[in-house]
Amino acid sequence: MSEHTDCHDYCAMISEFIDGELSSELCTKLEEHLAGCTNCTVVLNTMKKTIDIYHESNEPAELPEGVKKRLYSSLSLADYIRK
Ligand SMILES: [Zn+2]
Repeated sequence: MSEHTDCHDYCAMISEFIDGELSSELCTKLEEHLAGCTNCTVVLNTMKKTIDIYHESNEPAELPEGVKKRLYSSLSLADYIRK
C-alpha cells in the first residue's frame, strides 16, 4: 500500500540499526524498507557519513550519549522525510 506510512518509525530504527542495537527481525524489515524508500536511505547514508567523520577525528568508540543526541538533532531527521 503506502510506502511512506512508517518512515518516521524506520527513521527511529536507523539510529539503533547503526548502533547495532536493532533486533535481526527489525533489521530485515528496515533493510526491506530502505530498498524501496529513498528518504530513509538518505537518512541512513547521512547518519553513517556523519558518524564516520566523527570516528575519523576521534578514537573509534561508542558515541557518548550527549554527542549522539546532538548529532541526531543536528541532522534534523524529520527534514529528510518528505511526505
Ligand atoms: Zn522510509
